[in-house]
Amino acid sequence: MPLLIPNFSNRYADLPNAFYSLVDPQPLENSHWIAWNSVLAEQLGLPENQPTGDLKYFLSGEGDYQATPVLAMKYAGHQFGSYNPDLGDGRGLLLGEVTSPTGQVFDIHLKGAGLTPYSRMGDGRAVLRSTIREYLCSEAMAGLGIPTTRALGMLTSDTPVYREKVESGALLLRVAESHIRFGHFEHFFYTNQLSELKLLADKVIEWYWPECLKCDQPYAAMFATIVEKTAHMIAYWQAYGFAHGVMNTDNMSILGQTFDYGPFGFLDDYEPGYICNHSDYQGRYAFDQQPRIGLWNLSALAHALSPIIDKSELEQALSQFEVILGKKFSRLMRAKLGLNCKLEQDSQLFNAMFELLHQNRVDYTRFMRELSNLDTQPIQNVSDLFIDREAANAWLELYLARCECEVDEEGQAISSETRCEKMRKVNPKYILRNYLAQIAIDKAEQGDFSEVEALAELLKHPFDEQPDKDAYANLPPEWGKKMEISCSS
Ligand code: AMP
Ligand code: MG
Repeated sequence: MPLLIPNFSNRYADLPNAFYSLVDPQPLENSHWIAWNSVLAEQLGLPENQPTGDLKYFLSGEGDYQATPVLAMKYAGHQFGSYNPDLGDGRGLLLGEVTSPTGQVFDIHLKGAGLTPYSRMGDGRAVLRSTIREYLCSEAMAGLGIPTTRALGMLTSDTPVYREKVESGALLLRVAESHIRFGHFEHFFYTNQLSELKLLADKVIEWYWPECLKCDQPYAAMFATIVEKTAHMIAYWQAYGFAHGVMNTDNMSILGQTFDYGPFGFLDDYEPGYICNHSDYQGRYAFDQQPRIGLWNLSALAHALSPIIDKSELEQALSQFEVILGKKFSRLMRAKLGLNCKLEQDSQLFNAMFELLHQNRVDYTRFMRELSNLDTQPIQNVSDLFIDREAANAWLELYLARCECEVDEEGQAISSETRCEKMRKVNPKYILRNYLAQIAIDKAEQGDFSEVEALAELLKHPFDEQPDKDAYANLPPEWGKKMEISCSS
């Protein structure tokens, strides 16, 4: 039988049995598409329109998988600081890999496809609301230019799923260059399967970073690359006000892509200690803890890699984490503030800004966007966001004076139009605020998916003015700021 998708394979299935279990998906009842990402589909060489017939069955876990084995990956991981050996794809399956017309290889993963040997007490399912949240947020992150897994499509069904109440079973088609997590390495380390650990490292290098083979110590080069990519990803999170919520090592992609969206949240008011996960009682994964936790997670990975990489090499790579993150964060923030040159007093200006935003509970995204509109809008649009307008005006005066010091390559002063135009390309007007996602979910649970579609469309272009969509840039209502999202997804 010819393959339904040309260039479809599953190279992970060629690895030894210790890496996975072969599992057929358990079909959902009366499944049907509620979203299909035609732009991404085209990039992958898949049909632009929602698949029907055999291809729909294949992608929704209802196909014939004799020619292409489907599998649940085995991994472990540190959850809230404690090691859990019993993890793995408990409700997700690796359907296989598609090679895009440009030759890139992407995993297609079905999240919510039924029981696997790693389901533990779970039911192998994903509910509609969490599926919508992951779909919208991963695409919103892609729109913002933040490294992330992607969402190809989503289906809902008549299969009942029992959480606090009965909900609809849904399925997310997740796309990523890799589904390998820090926890994959941890599993082989803690079970003392060292040849598998080495083989996994060999495959990561072969598939993702073959250039490491040119280095004296390819494994050390691989780890240094993971450190760098993770630092970059977290710098983006901090600059754009994104809180992941569950930075367990099993939710950390080795490619440094935002991975496994659960109780995430974007900052509304600038609140460094923001905890988006209702179950995170200690604030381990609070917004301002993310850089520290990134390093903690990389240290856990380093420990797992210690049989194949010298301690000194691991320490050297880890020592670069804060440096790389700090540099990237500073580059991103400079761009957001429209500052190209580096001046000594800049860190003072930055710190004063963050402190003012915090003290005055100013909406982070709105502030940055208003700052990007000063070429056409009055300065009051910014200072009105603050309770202490005097302090805001004092800072704005310093900031605008600082902008005056900016010059282009020819030493010419940069106009506010030029500065602001660039700033609007890095300071989004629209983000996936929790309350917007919730409104879309409430409607979807009543069978109306129009708001999911509208948000997905809006967030593809978060930096553009979309005049008829102004309401989506509104500040959140009080109920929207106090929403608590738990892990029961
Ligand atoms: P998560 O909190 O989604 O990152 O998942 C942590 C672990 O629990 C992973 O091994 C998941 O596969 C597993 N898991 C989460 N939800 C379910 C579920 N409903 N059924 C089976 N396993 C699950
Ligand atoms: Mg997970």
